[in-house]
Order: sequence, then C-alpha cells, then structure tokens
Amino acid sequence: MYTAIGYAAQSATTPLAPMTFNRRSPRADDVAIEILYCGVCHSDIHQARNEWGIAVYPLMPGHEIVGKVTEVGANVTKHKVGDLVGVGCMVDSCRHCEACAADLEQYCLEGPTLTYATPDRVDGSNTMGGYSSSIVVSEHFVVRIPETLNPAAAAPILCAGITTYSPLKHYGVKAGDKVGVLGMGGLGHMGIKFAKAMGAEVTLFTRSASKAEEARRQGADHVIVSTDAEQMKAAAGHFDFLLDTIPVQHDLNPYLETLRFDGVHILVGLIEPVDPALHTANLVMKRRVLAGSLIGGIAETQEVLDFCAEHGISCDIEMLDIKNINEAYSRMIAGDIKYRFVIDMATLKA
Ligand code: NDP
Ligand code: ZN
Repeated sequence: MYTAIGYAAQSATTPLAPMTFNRRSPRADDVAIEILYCGVCHSDIHQARNEWGIAVYPLMPGHEIVGKVTEVGANVTKHKVGDLVGVGCMVDSCRHCEACAADLEQYCLEGPTLTYATPDRVDGSNTMGGYSSSIVVSEHFVVRIPETLNPAAAAPILCAGITTYSPLKHYGVKAGDKVGVLGMGGLGHMGIKFAKAMGAEVTLFTRSASKAEEARRQGADHVIVSTDAEQMKAAAGHFDFLLDTIPVQHDLNPYLETLRFDGVHILVGLIEPVDPALHTANLVMKRRVLAGSLIGGIAETQEVLDFCAEHGISCDIEMLDIKNINEAYSRMIAGDIKYRFVIDMATLKA
C-alpha cells in the first residue's frame, strides 16, 4: 500500500480539502505513477457538487493526469519505471464486450470504471482521481506521453483533447467542411485546434464577444456571438458539423437551424435533459442528426497525443497551486480561464 495525499470533497456542499488515503500496491498488470500534473475539467466541478447525481464521497476529482512511472507489476510490458505517462477518464472496463473489443472502452457494455468515484472492479473500493500525489492503474489504461509535448500542457489532452478529437474523427471531418464549435473553454479551444488541423473552416459560437480575437489566435476563421439573434439568423443552413461543449442547459433550436441539410450537431457538454424542448422539425425537415459523444477509447487517446505531437498542438494552460483549487472552480464557472487550469502537483508537497 502507498500512503497518498490529495484534495477531495467530503460532500456536494463542502469545498475540496486535503485528505490522506491509501493507494493499492500494484497488481500484476498495474503501473504506479507519481503524478506531476493534473488538468481541471468542468466535469470535476459537476461531480464534486453532485450535479449529475452519481457522486460518491469522499470524491477526489482529476482525470487529466501526467506523471512518472515509479513501479510496475510483474506482468507489465507496456511501460517501465521512469516513463512519462498519462491517465485519462477511465482506469478499467470489462475488456471483453463488443465495445471493449472494438477499442471503445468508454462505451463498455458493463460500464467503464472511471478514474474517480466508481467502484474498482477487483476490490470494490471507490476510485480516487488525479488531484493527488500518486495513482495505480492497469497498464492498458495508461498511455505514453510523446517526448516533444510539454508534459503540463499535455495533461488536458487526456480529456478535453480526446473528447473533442474523437467525434470530429468519427464523423469524418475533412478539408473544406464547415465546423462550428460552441463555447470556448477547455474543450472548445481544443475543438477549434483539431477542426482546423483537419482542414475545416472553423467558427466559434460564443456568448463572449470579447473572445473573438483569442478565437482567431486559436485558429477560428469566424466568430458568431450566440446572444446576437441577427448573427445566428445570418448563419442559417451553413454548417456541416457543430461541436457543442456548453456545460449547461441551452436552447438547441437556434443552433440546429445553422446546420445545412444532413448536418450533425454533436453534444459533448450537456449531460442533462434538453430544456427548452427541441422542435423536431429542426431535425426532420433537413435530415439533420443530433448526436452525442463520450471521451474516446484508449487506443484513440494515444492517437490524439501523437496527433498533437505531430501537428504541434497543445493546450493553453494556467498553472495552479492546488491550495487554490476552490477559487479555480469559481473562476471556471465565471469563464475566467484561458483555457485550462493544470495543477502543479509539486504544490501538494509544499
Ligand atoms: P469550461 O468551463 O472550460 O468551458 C465551457 C464553455 O462553455 C465556457 O468557456 C463558455 O464559453 C461556455 N459556457 C459556459 N457557461 C455557459 C452558459 N451558461 N451558457 C452558454 N455557454 C456557456 O468547461 P469544459 O470545456 O471543461 O467542459 C465543457 C463540458 O463538457 C462540461 O459540461 C463537461 O462536464 C463536459 N465534458 C464532457 C465530456 C464527454 O466525454 N462528453 C468529457 C469532458 C467534459 P463561451 O464563453 O465561449 O461562451
Ligand atoms: Zn474531463
């Protein structure tokens, strides 16, 4: 057993605070990792505050983990001590169902084991995430961080990156396609970079007119201020794909109207009922598709890391001292972050 420290919420209404706990000794196929960096995802806030109704406490968030291998189990072949590695949103799955066999562990028919707040498949203990000094994970769910990536800026690729890359890839976004990205936060700014790297003409939909210049720097060709009904109307029938990262309920109808016939609106941010209601004429009359997508499989997570290394893509980050994590959550909710906090885990020891 390892003694570990980290920051956890004890309930939906208490701020995150330091906690000492145990990590298991590596099983035969496990890798033990000293965590160097961990990104802060909006999902961490949803979960710490039980906004999805599935939280288990104590809840230690963090699923954008980069660290160094410190120990490996007897059967480990993929990683060795000293390697720079990453762990994303999942740490296990059934490994034999149709989805797992297709490298889509995130859609495991028995449900993947998430990096935090899910029972471990072997001992039933509550998984604890990456806002901590160390983690122990089965080697299949540990990926390699390419040498040319900045390790801190690579951390958010493990969730924000794969979550935006995977649906763009799945729907075959290609040169010349018109892609709209909804919301420019952690996921959205990566979505802009990936759509651009795939050759698309990219538009950011944002509430914040002040983000226009920044969006162009990220690679957006155009910006639409979503609160301006005239700008929304002018975009009618224009887009092939919308990648929707907005984390709260919002009216999908005006966005659907900006899709051409056969256009696809991909939800990644909203994991709640649609409200206000969807008018299905916006789908039926134009054969449009409303879709959803969850992170990406492990092989594809390695693929997106390699894609970032090849295309010189990285996340725009602000380094965070872990003792300021609760303040960071408030700033994220206020949209005051460009565009991902990454915890420097050295601050945990301080
Ligand atoms: P961020 O907080 O970093 O960014 C969200 C962006 O959405 C904001 O920057 C803002 O962009 C826009 N936004 C925020 N609030 C509102 C609002 N009230 N109305 C309209 N737009 C708003 O979040 P993340 O990028 O980390 O995560 C986005 C969502 O994706 C979260 O719900 C998260 O849980 C989910 N998620 C889903 C995953 C999946 O697998 N499907 C994986 C990871 C995360 P702007 O100012 O430009 O309008
Ligand atoms: Zn996430």
